[in-house]
This record gives sequence, structure tokens and C-alpha cells, in this order.
Amino acid sequence: MADTDVRSLAELLAANKGHAVALTGAGISTESGIPDFRSPGTGLWNRIDPMEYLSVDALYARPETFWQYFAEVFGPTLAAQPNAGHLALAKLEAAGFITGVITQNIDGLHQKAGSRTVYEVHGHLRTVHCQSCGRTYPMSEALAQLKKEPIPHCSECGGRVRPDVVLFGDMMPAAFSQAVAAVERSSLVLVVGSSLTVSPANSLAFQTPHLAIVNREPTPADGRADVVLSGGAGDTLSAVLRELNLA
Ligand SMILES: [Zn+2]
Repeated sequence: MADTDVRSLAELLAANKGHAVALTGAGISTESGIPDFRSPGTGLWNRIDPMEYLSVDALYARPETFWQYFAEVFGPTLAAQPNAGHLALAKLEAAGFITGVITQNIDGLHQKAGSRTVYEVHGHLRTVHCQSCGRTYPMSEALAQLKKEPIPHCSECGGRVRPDVVLFGDMMPAAFSQAVAAVERSSLVLVVGSSLTVSPANSLAFQTPHLAIVNREPTPADGRADVVLSGGAGDTLSAVLRELNLA
């Protein structure tokens, strides 16, 4: 990460102040101890097939297996804490540089870091809802139930509950169209920790006049980006904050 690149990103943010939105992926949360499920070699996706286990089909056809894997994979994430990358984006929003964060992550760490406007295009881990009566419960309650029974149920009507995350086979939530609108209002998208390979969220990086990318690995959008920084989110964004006198 060269100083000139950090300066370029800071200048780009200053030039588009108030008209920029961040787009984040798994790479921003790895520094909080949450595995990047899609990383080659180490990824959890190499052990289990997400299309098979974390799908709407699995939720209905094999709910016990679904919940067993869901709790194993995402249970530890509930206790994770935001890192310097999340905190930097919250500061950029508070200082008026970005208007919000579009995230592919379901870990809720942007809100924990203090971000106000967060578009969770893949849903979130905070709650589950009853598929019969619609009542919402904290995820922690559903996971606690799982210790006593194979499938969590609605304590009001006995119906089955499901997580408020976007599963394979689900439609995209309202947050996605809100994210599209946020990008349309913006002149700059700042990608942080996303390899831009997951559709349709990755398409957002291609719908903006200016693009900046902070990611450890190359992305398919690097060629059209104004600035590409190949460092970690925490270090890179902390350096950008210093450049903007926000640190
Ligand atoms: Zn219910």
C-alpha cells in the first residue's frame, strides 16, 4: 500500500464528499475473526456446499440439518466485534464523506461500529421470524431453543421460524433496491473487502461514475476503478482517515 494510493483515495473521497457510498463484503470482517467463506483453500465453503445446506430447499426439506449447520456456521458470529475497518466507515459517514454502507455481510458489525445507514442486501443475523404468524424473535432465542429441540419454533403459535438472512433460492430483500437507489444517487462507490464475485450485489460496483476498491485480492472491476488498494481494510482505511485528518 503506497502512500500515493492512500492520498489518491482520500482525494477521491474529498472530491465526492456526500455523494459516496461504501460496498462491503466478507473481507472487511475477517479481521474480526469471521472466516471469509469463499476464500480459496481455507474457506468453509470447501467443507460444506452452501447451495445444499443454506438454501430455502434445505430449510423446508431438511430443517434439522439446516439449523444444525446454521448454528455451527453463524453462531460464533453473533459475538464478533467490529474492527478498525468498520469503525473507519462509521467515521467517514459521521463526517459526511459517505452516505451509508451497502453490505453483503450478515454479521451486523457495521451497526455495532456506529454506522447509521446500512443496506444489508443479504439480510442479517439479528432476528428470525415465524413463517406462520410473522412474529420476530432474536436469533439468540432461536439458537438457545436449538439446544433443547431440533428445530426452533414460534413460542406464540408453534409455527416454524426462519432466519432473516437471504438464503439461496430467496428473492433479494427490499434493502437491495434501496441499495441500488443509493448507488444511483452517488458519484462514487467505495468497495471494501469484496471480491465482487457474488451476484447481484457485485453489479452495484459497475453502476457508478467513480469507483475505489480496497481488497486484498484483485477483483473483476479493478480495470474500471479510479483507485485500487490491495491492503487489508483496517490498515488501509485507518491510513485514509489520517490523510483526511479524521483519525
Ligand atoms: Zn408464530
